[in-house]
Amino acid sequence: MSDTTTTIEMQLRQALGEGLLTQEPMRHHTTFRVGGPADFFYAATTPEHLVTALRTAHALKLPCFLLGGGSNLLVSDSGIRGLVVRNACETIEFDGTAAHVQCGADYLTFIRRTQERALAGFAYAAGIPGSVGGALYGNAGCYGQDIGSRAIECTIATLDGATVETQKAAWFEFAYRDSRLKREPRALLSCVLQLEKGDADAIQREIDEKLEIRRVKHPQWRTEPTAGSYFKNLPPGFQVPGLPHSPGTHRIPAGALLDHCDARGLRVGDAMVFAKHANILVNAGHATAKDVLTLAETLKARVRAKFGVQLEEEVMFLGDRPQFPEVAPRTA
Ligand SMILES: Cc1cc2nc3c(=O)[nH]c(=O)nc-3n(C[C@H](O)[C@H](O)[C@H](O)COP(=O)(O)OP(=O)(O)OC[C@H]3O[C@@H](n4cnc5c(N)ncnc54)[C@H](O)[C@@H]3O)c2cc1C
Repeated sequence: MSDTTTTIEMQLRQALGEGLLTQEPMRHHTTFRVGGPADFFYAATTPEHLVTALRTAHALKLPCFLLGGGSNLLVSDSGIRGLVVRNACETIEFDGTAAHVQCGADYLTFIRRTQERALAGFAYAAGIPGSVGGALYGNAGCYGQDIGSRAIECTIATLDGATVETQKAAWFEFAYRDSRLKREPRALLSCVLQLEKGDADAIQREIDEKLEIRRVKHPQWRTEPTAGSYFKNLPPGFQVPGLPHSPGTHRIPAGALLDHCDARGLRVGDAMVFAKHANILVNAGHATAKDVLTLAETLKARVRAKFGVQLEEEVMFLGDRPQFPEVAPRTA
């Protein structure tokens, strides 16, 4: 370890205490179970600790990444330089039909708590892994619904930890799998979400139904590691050459294009296309990030060759990209 690294570690430890970890394998913190070590890793259990971590990293000119549940990430085999701060602030409180939630709260835990209070509005999302903060960052959703449309306001910190402020939902410009935070990153500390009075049994039935649909169609991420849908669906109205016109607001699933390219079951090392869903990549053992990226490049090349369409990644890549040989599209 260099003298500079030792000094940085000492200063971080002074600010953050014994909770600071070094060389922490990121595969332990991502649902893909892929990723090399973070130089420094700290789980913040209060918003004050989280802001202190941001401020300290900034003062030390250390790159800093804010981690939620790690369910939308692919981390490089060489890991992450700098400090990874996991948001482990998980308090959930209710005030009538409004939920006051710290953004490190697990999304499914939050949904279960709304059911206990007979509050409706989030059962549809049961089974989306990760934290409430990660869900807000990417405006996570399914079945035509998303978390942003139920946000009232969120408390955010600038990434240097200098300013904490509360902004109304409109500020976040929530859109399909998108928010302003993707362009102007901030740390989400807490949020207020709007629910409505419902029937506890009906909410439980919907949660069970949604979890069952995912159990049948999707990999079980705790035992079949994955980051969910790998590529973004295509925008509404997008005309894919060679496919029937798809009018209206319906997005053409990336999986449909991949199915035309015989993607299911394709494998590079231990990275595999899930047998039941062409847009989901799974880690079938000891997949490396390079395996996953090579497989993804192969899939993109096939879709480009067949449809002239460039798929874009939904899953975020972190760290240094490995070098690749050019991936040749399939000729058959
Ligand atoms: C099996 C499976 C099924 C999935 N199904 C769906 C689905 O149906 N719909 C869907 O939309 N997604 C789905 N996903 C993707 C993923 O679960 C969501 O994107 C989730 O909301 C990410 O949250 P996270 O806490 O895990 O974020 P992470 O993966 O930890 O981070 C993702 C991004 O969010 C940022 N972030 C995290 N927390 C904060 C915070 N507090 N403040 C600011 N930025 C933050 C991170 O910096 C990073 O840029 C699925 C994933 C899996 C593995």
